Amino acid sequence: MRTLLCCCSLYLWLCSCYAQPSPKNKEIKCDAKIEREYSDGSASIAFIHLHANETTALNAVRQFLERNKGSLFYVKQRAERNISLVLNDSIFQFDPNRIFTSAGRKANLSPYSAAADSVVKMFANEIVSELHSYRMIISVHNNTPSNFSISSYKKGGEFEREASKVYINRKMDEDDFVFTTDENIFDKCRKQKLNVVLQDNVRRTDDGSLSVYCSNVKLSYVNIEAEFGHADQQLKMLQFIYQAVSSKLEERSYAAERSGE
Ligand SMILES: [Zn+2]
Repeated sequence: MRTLLCCCSLYLWLCSCYAQPSPKNKEIKCDAKIEREYSDGSASIAFIHLHANETTALNAVRQFLERNKGSLFYVKQRAERNISLVLNDSIFQFDPNRIFTSAGRKANLSPYSAAADSVVKMFANEIVSELHSYRMIISVHNNTPSNFSISSYKKGGEFEREASKVYINRKMDEDDFVFTTDENIFDKCRKQKLNVVLQDNVRRTDDGSLSVYCSNVKLSYVNIEAEFGHADQQLKMLQFIYQAVSSKLEERSYAAERSGE
């Protein structure tokens, strides 16, 4: 049985199927909202699920939180990747994982308008203001075979320039992998022979994704990617990363104690 203590809507201004005036008296309609579920409010790890259609990932993290500490933030809407927003009778669409920087919103918001940008920026700010009280962010995503995988980050791959290091275990499915901004976590995954990519935190494209935002503000970030339907693999990666992250956080606290911080 799930042991969640709380399930609440964080953003009443962006809520289901009714209009509500924004601070500038614009009429906003949106059927997406961010919700939070948590099993322990004192936990230092936040899990985040941004693409509502990626249900394998959401189920895996919920199953994981039945037995472990952490808070889960997730986008609740119909099972689609993008969010639709109606602002003063005009319709806009955006990918909720491309909204965390102004360059990302500019490239992603369709069609672009400054007024819609300010609404989406509020949405992004509400999310990151919640995340800042945690010491580690673990994001969960799903992908489909034959488009995006760890191979996309290899030499000659579409996202080669986004990665500073890549480790591939050929016995693993290339769609199941960890992506992180944190070299310590990368090293732990490589030792465990787990497919892993280390983001190049200097050269990476500013696409407005949460990994870019976290590297900008020096917040440790891990994304656990798995193919749709690979629930067991995603759960196993969650378990490994949770252990690796927990020991890293303990090491850091110990070092801070020793140095009197
Ligand atoms: Zn995703």
